Amino acid sequence: MNKADGYTSGVVLNNMAAFFPVNKFSTNGRGPSDYDNQATMIPDHTDDMGGKSHQLEEDFAVVEPKDDESCAVERLHHLTKIVTEFQDHLRERATNHLGYPGNHNCSHYLALSTLLQFNINNAGDPFKKSDHGLHSKKFEVGVLDWFARLWGIDKDEYWGYITNGGTESNFHGILLGREVLPNGILYTSEESHYSLFKIAKMYRMDSETIATLATGEMDCNDLRDKLLMNKDRPAIINVTIGTTFKGALDDLDLVVHTLTHCGFSDNQFYIHCDAAISGFVVPFLKQVPKFTFKKPIGSVSISGHKFLGCPMPCGVLITRRIYINLISRNIEYIASFDTTIAGSRNGHSPIFMWYVLNLKGRKGLEQDVQRCLRNAQYLRHRLKKAGISSMLNEMSITVVFERPPDDEFVRHWQLQCLRNMAHVVVMPHVTVELLERFLYDLTRKRNTWYGKVQPPCLAEDIGICNCVCPVHAYPTCKGGAKPRRALAADRTWLQLEAIMPIKPKVQTYFVY
Ligand SMILES: *Cc1c(COP(=O)(O)O)cnc(C)c1O
Repeated sequence: MNKADGYTSGVVLNNMAAFFPVNKFSTNGRGPSDYDNQATMIPDHTDDMGGKSHQLEEDFAVVEPKDDESCAVERLHHLTKIVTEFQDHLRERATNHLGYPGNHNCSHYLALSTLLQFNINNAGDPFKKSDHGLHSKKFEVGVLDWFARLWGIDKDEYWGYITNGGTESNFHGILLGREVLPNGILYTSEESHYSLFKIAKMYRMDSETIATLATGEMDCNDLRDKLLMNKDRPAIINVTIGTTFKGALDDLDLVVHTLTHCGFSDNQFYIHCDAAISGFVVPFLKQVPKFTFKKPIGSVSISGHKFLGCPMPCGVLITRRIYINLISRNIEYIASFDTTIAGSRNGHSPIFMWYVLNLKGRKGLEQDVQRCLRNAQYLRHRLKKAGISSMLNEMSITVVFERPPDDEFVRHWQLQCLRNMAHVVVMPHVTVELLERFLYDLTRKRNTWYGKVQPPCLAEDIGICNCVCPVHAYPTCKGGAKPRRALAADRTWLQLEAIMPIKPKVQTYFVY
């Protein structure tokens, strides 16, 4: 177990630097022409500000206005010019955006631009009256009601709020779990989002990291073993609905079954569902088991800027109303109740979410989901045909494939990479045409990357049957030969085990 005690606050603070690495400075002004003309490119390391003093381009410095009034107009022109150029940069980056899970179809939000004249703040509880007049809590509650319906919980039984993103939603969900079960151990899979490990540290909770299958989903055999080792303490379990890298769905039903099997009664566990990405995908599919409040879960979180495509980070947290009194405090001078992680809260994002949900409706979202799934399958099919190791989980929009050995290529397509893998998250802005351009570039460049050097082996990352590296291309998985424990077989086997009594420790991963 990862013990939480023994942290001095100094350690926690020192670790903060690791929690918040400085992002790539994305305003290096490179356009598409620079990318295509790679011979003229000079490797640029100044965009990585980590630790070192950085070089700020002149345009982006904050400059004191001169006293001379005559410059004011000129100055305004100058600022507008920089922002306009930056827009061009953003437009170019948005059209070649494949790896990070954001939907960049955002132009419909221009209709809300007049709202920028107002400083709107939703501080405090969304359901409680506030003296602060400039808030959008009516929109917020409208959006929350919509999510409550989506996730199967009655209006008077839920509580929730619009957060600053999936991370804050996770912070709130796990906080509730900890307050309901103060002595609980946090169980989360090794492929869960990095916020979960940050939460364990910042809340100083004891935690157990659960192994994953090649699909990326939680290995419930490992969960069972670790639950049995800690039977004397309650369990707070994070279930990921769509893992960040492989888009895997942890099996909620199997997690509940495992808890029951290990003798945990309903009041000895709390389940938080992290549905940051797939929370918008899974509810619109008929074929998959639902995550809903009809099952014994305590909270759900989702990001609003990912699949839904809000132009600023935002998220939703929904929980059962009975839990919220555990953390609610009356704060006289905001004339509201403090039930949220953040104090001041974005008053614009609820209106943006409300707007897009009304614009699309369930039907529009369902169409987005179907198109993304089709396009993801198309990409996976094309990669497979081109002889590139790749994987696509069922009901997922995340295509995993071999990591390109060319940093410039990775940066151009804004791919996310991990070990030998890269991924494309097929969001609503990703068209077949964009995928075609990407595939053309990839297959063309691949000829120059590989020759003397071999493509990487991905057997350990995505399973032997999805790997077509020189070692695994032919022997067992091709030509009708019997696959060595394919991914699907792996899963069925686990599910069977859920129905039948659980045997002693079994190997659910691949054997070579
Ligand atoms: C992106 C993500 C988060 C965090 O969401 P933010 O909105 O970026 O804070 C949490 N969980 C998963 C699975 C994610 O993919």
